[in-house]
Amino acid sequence: MADSRRVRNTALGIFSALFLILAPSAATAADGETAPARDPKQAIDEPYTAKIQKYTTAPYFNSPLVNYLPSSNTVPTPEAVLGDIAGAPGVLPYAEDVYKYMRMLEKASPRVKVFSIGTTEEGREMIAVAVSSPENLKNLEENRARLVKLADPRTIKLDDSEADKLVGQAVPVYYITGTIHSPETGAPTALMELAYRLTVDESPYIQEIRDGMITLITPVVEVDGRDRMVDIYRWHLAHPKDFYPPLIYWGKYVAHDNNRDAMGVTLKLTENVLNTYVGWKAQVLHDLHESVPYLYDNTVGDGPYNAWVDPILTDEWQMIGARNVADMTKFGMPGVFTHGDFDTWSPGYLMFIAAMHNGISRLYETFGNGGADTQERTLDPEEYSRTWFRQNPPLPKTLWSQRDNNNYEQTGLLTSLHYFNENKRLFLKNFYLKAKRSVMKPAAEGPAAYVLPADEPRPGLQAELLRVLQKQAVEISRAKSAFTVSLPVKKEKPKKDTKDTKEADKKKKPEPTTRDFPAGSYIIRMDQPYARIADALLDHQYWSPDDPQKTPYDDTGWTFGELFGVQVARVTDLKVLDMAMERVVNVHAPGGVKGDGAVFAINNNAEPALATLRYKMKDAAMEAAEEQFDSSGKKFTRGSLVIRKVSRADLDRAASDLGLQVVALGTAPSVKTHPVRAARVAFVHTWLSTQTEGWWRLALDDLKIPYDYISTQTIAKIDDLNAKYDVILFPPVGYSPGPTAIINGMTTAWGNPLPWKNTPETPNLVGKNDSTDDMRPGLGWDGLAKLQTFVQKGGVLLTATDTSRFATEIGLVTGVSAHASERMKIVGSVLGTRLVDGASPIAYGYEEKVAAYCDNGPIFSLSSIAGARGRRRLGNESHTRATGRGTADDPDFTVGRPATEAPEELTSEIWEAPPVTDEQRRNGFRVIPPANRARVIFRYADKKDLLISGLVEGGDEIAQRPAVVDVPAGKGHVVLFSINPVYRGETRGTYSMVLNTILNFDSLDAGRKLAEK
Ligand SMILES: [Zn+2]
Repeated sequence: MADSRRVRNTALGIFSALFLILAPSAATAADGETAPARDPKQAIDEPYTAKIQKYTTAPYFNSPLVNYLPSSNTVPTPEAVLGDIAGAPGVLPYAEDVYKYMRMLEKASPRVKVFSIGTTEEGREMIAVAVSSPENLKNLEENRARLVKLADPRTIKLDDSEADKLVGQAVPVYYITGTIHSPETGAPTALMELAYRLTVDESPYIQEIRDGMITLITPVVEVDGRDRMVDIYRWHLAHPKDFYPPLIYWGKYVAHDNNRDAMGVTLKLTENVLNTYVGWKAQVLHDLHESVPYLYDNTVGDGPYNAWVDPILTDEWQMIGARNVADMTKFGMPGVFTHGDFDTWSPGYLMFIAAMHNGISRLYETFGNGGADTQERTLDPEEYSRTWFRQNPPLPKTLWSQRDNNNYEQTGLLTSLHYFNENKRLFLKNFYLKAKRSVMKPAAEGPAAYVLPADEPRPGLQAELLRVLQKQAVEISRAKSAFTVSLPVKKEKPKKDTKDTKEADKKKKPEPTTRDFPAGSYIIRMDQPYARIADALLDHQYWSPDDPQKTPYDDTGWTFGELFGVQVARVTDLKVLDMAMERVVNVHAPGGVKGDGAVFAINNNAEPALATLRYKMKDAAMEAAEEQFDSSGKKFTRGSLVIRKVSRADLDRAASDLGLQVVALGTAPSVKTHPVRAARVAFVHTWLSTQTEGWWRLALDDLKIPYDYISTQTIAKIDDLNAKYDVILFPPVGYSPGPTAIINGMTTAWGNPLPWKNTPETPNLVGKNDSTDDMRPGLGWDGLAKLQTFVQKGGVLLTATDTSRFATEIGLVTGVSAHASERMKIVGSVLGTRLVDGASPIAYGYEEKVAAYCDNGPIFSLSSIAGARGRRRLGNESHTRATGRGTADDPDFTVGRPATEAPEELTSEIWEAPPVTDEQRRNGFRVIPPANRARVIFRYADKKDLLISGLVEGGDEIAQRPAVVDVPAGKGHVVLFSINPVYRGETRGTYSMVLNTILNFDSLDAGRKLAEK
């Protein structure tokens, strides 16, 4: 900043893209750049500037870019709304106040435009604020037309010289998003002030940004959560001596996971940001967070990088990240770095919308106090240590303010914007090149397309998967006629077995094969600009246990076709692109009633819409067939619905809406059936965390399955749970709190109550969720007794992952134990499971093999002896005999007696309880009677088939173990899941395991075969 470099004329079109490509790296491009310095001719807002100095706790926590505020006669500063400056202690505005200010800016200056970009689940508005020169804002549509062409090179026939012209004319869009994570509170005020600076500052450095590009700002991404956070903070200001309630809810459904939704796009905030990013054809999506001191530009992070991004992007990360660190380090700001422990494998992060749509994803972690208090903060040694990538580490102990945070955020953003503008022709050309390389993908690296066959047995789930892709702006086509493609020869890995198998391998060389697809099959062409996101979602993932990265940041596998339970073929044969096909705008599974008769049947293929239909048609009589049957020339699987007492017209309408194919039958099938009822469902959450259960609520709400949402505290207060409910769902708490934490909650032995309810101080806390006078108490022993009674009297309790551990460890079930493993490492992966008992209603509609989401178990073991821990198998199979005389299969002897054969040992499968021995039956009061024993519905696949996508290390510990178990308890059942069947909108193929349990709650024993002894 000390050197006064001449202001370079960056007028449009001066630099050809060719020049920039030939130019050396960005690091040397600084020559001729405008230095960051204020315009001495422009007056500063003295009182505002004085407060900046006052609230900044050390001079090195500021920079020459933001240590002053330029004044304006016409444009109000953030003080107009905040009553103080941005980042002032004690000041945290609601989203509404932030919007009010942005709209004041819009009114006061032709350099600002505010756009409404949609609403949240609770109906709050989301906005995007564009700041640029009046000319740029006037020509938005014209500019967008240019960007559209660069974003879709097919429109200019992949003509590079045409692209160069557009690159020379287009104004790029840099999109910044703030406070998706509600306890990370600094971004809204930082972005208010940033918008002001970009609007009024006349320094050449800022002018260049304003004239050269469009800065687009969504100051609050998680609007519902922001308002709750501000409530909590105000409560804290009003009760300064009290502990304040932790932010148990952010958005309506999920908390921190709102930044893991960019694959499934199930949350409004994701959809709104995605539509804005893609609609504006922005080049960058830069998301602001606060969890690392002082500024971790985790854009570069660490490997492994997502395998589906263009390497051009990973180079851009390096360029921008390195320059960002360099600029801020030169300002003397400590603790700025860009490498770290964040890997960019999963595409679930909000910023990754850009990476998957040919832009540049960026993310800042800055430092924050979770509110606007100025506090002394002490860092962990790990946080302030010097590392190879953090040569200028943060200080071990410091006073930190929200203003410090705002200084870092704004300085980082301004240097980024300026650097981006300096190199915008390069980045715009890259934007085009990444799109072009996507279009050329089929012939370059492949695949040519993904095909979803028209004869898919689950057309409803297929349509849901296609709709996710459409939300992602992926084009979908449909084949006009049947076609055949050739499949590549899959090279078998050489077996390290014997010579015999090698010889055999040589003889049976794999032959090329073909695959036929019927007319109407869906084709997702890879020669389209957004092929990348489709490829990333539909492909398989493999994370090697030998990868140097030992702590994956998030899930390692997500293959959508597998998790949706629908067929997806990866086709490399380029011929597929020449098939006659048409673009599909609305994907809808065909549905309705066909045939004649007053009895109706729907084949069961585990489509969640069946449950929706049950609840929608409350008065219809529905039954499930306990065996498969043929009728009217059609085959119906076990669990198929037989429907009576319904008007054909009503059923036809409902079935069309839901994409369900109904067959009217002449006569009712003679097969054994049981009623399928609309169970009364209670959905239980803790006050410890609502993160993981939120995805279950979202799924049930989408499917229109009604439920009462109650907390563990409420259980004890209900006299007779059975009188109110048939099924209690207790989805995962989310961080394995252990059984005592669920019972005890947070301690009440000291401290003050932590209320979660609406008051004049906290008008937004509850929303449409739950409330309590004190979050601290848990289920309690009374509540546990109530749960136990509920099950004993005939209720069904359904648990998953950590709540399954709770149910086994606290003794709600007999004969099943659950344990975690230190050695096994399954980090959010897609695993194979196998159907064990297809006669169980829980399995209705499923086939032999089902893919499921698993995050390290738990590992279930079964026993037929009450109170016994199931056996654990570690390492290899046990051997057949003990040490002694003879060969491995010879009998031993007792001295003086002739050799005798030992009685045949009873064997069992890993997922089964070991058979009861004669010894155990002697006075066998602990032997669980056959009717009370656990029934395994699904098990994990064998070790070699376990991994479908992601990371599996030490998988032999969970291989073949039960994955879904139905445990009779008194007159009721506890259904335990080791997998998480409902997760992030990604696992729709396993939803029906939960829905089947609900609908068949009073017939779960259907088809059950008891052991003889
Ligand atoms: Zn965050």
